[in-house]
Amino acid sequence: MLTYCLEFAPAHDAELWATVPAAPAVFLLRVDDPLSEPYVSKTANLRRRLQRLLGAPAEHSKKLNLRDRVRWIEYSPTGSDFESGFLLYRLLRSTFPKTYSHRVRLRFAPLVKLHLENEFPRASITTRLGRLSGRNIYYGPFPSRTVAEKFASDSLDFFKMRRCVDDLHPDPQFPGCIYSEMKMCLAPCFKGCSDEEYRAEVGRVQSYFDTGGDSLLREISAQRDAASANLEFEMIGRPDPAVKDDTLWLTGWERSNLGPALAAHGAHLVADPHPGENFFARSDNFVLARKGVVAQTISSYGLHRDYHQPSDDLAHLDFKHLYAATGSLLMPVEWLVNSDFQPKWNAGGKP
Ligand code: SF4
Repeated sequence: MLTYCLEFAPAHDAELWATVPAAPAVFLLRVDDPLSEPYVSKTANLRRRLQRLLGAPAEHSKKLNLRDRVRWIEYSPTGSDFESGFLLYRLLRSTFPKTYSHRVRLRFAPLVKLHLENEFPRASITTRLGRLSGRNIYYGPFPSRTVAEKFASDSLDFFKMRRCVDDLHPDPQFPGCIYSEMKMCLAPCFKGCSDEEYRAEVGRVQSYFDTGGDSLLREISAQRDAASANLEFEMIGRPDPAVKDDTLWLTGWERSNLGPALAAHGAHLVADPHPGENFFARSDNFVLARKGVVAQTISSYGLHRDYHQPSDDLAHLDFKHLYAATGSLLMPVEWLVNSDFQPKWNAGGKP
């Protein structure tokens, strides 16, 4: 089964070290006695491994040394971890047909476990499947624990299910943790939500895992379709010399009725004075605009040279401008949210 077979003579070991590759391989070491069991293994560096097993033993060392017993070395170079594992499995199976399963030492793949049997369900990473008749649910497998942890953590960032691992005994005096501080957990630990609200959130997480993320996509799409406008604020910490003091500008001003309506209600808001920069299409919310939502960005970016530089720091903020310009928007935005006014694209304005 293995590609190469070399005779090993301790007196000529240096020649052998020069012959075998310092590369991944599966190998087998035999003695002359056909009744003796061979030594079978895989390695990331065949030469180094053989030198350790067959080189002159260090004095008083307890490491395994087969120098005086091995006569034949068989090996096959391999090109990946997967190939090494698969070839080792086949070799063990053919060499030890009755005991190979104990020798293979297959590792179980990591899974994400949703602890639905817990009164306050949570998720964790495990390599062990529990009772399949139980209510806990497993998702995976994942190629490594790191990948499983990243998947679980990134997924849970969309929800407010708890991250702590202890069993909870809700107590209003409990301070919570960083997740409740950051509004990333409903905080059942201090009764920050009702049991029904927590169960509903866990249900959303389960649907997300069950549908490969589709349930969340549907939720977000529905919210997007229900949205009539999206206002984004970017780069408003410094005044733009191209417009009047304490004034902000709106991307795509002429495209909709939104900017003029806010200005008519007192907002210090004008048209984008840099149309050549095409900020309307370069804004993050352009994707929403293309879906039909009246999505525009408010800014006072004056094309300063500190953009995306370490020098774009607190010392360069103009708090007087920030206070006056954003303050002028408070009443108009409150009117917008509470009125029947419907932001609409002007003719030919929708991208
Ligand atoms: S806020 Fe409470 S329930 Fe949420 S993760 Fe922290 S300790 Fe756990």
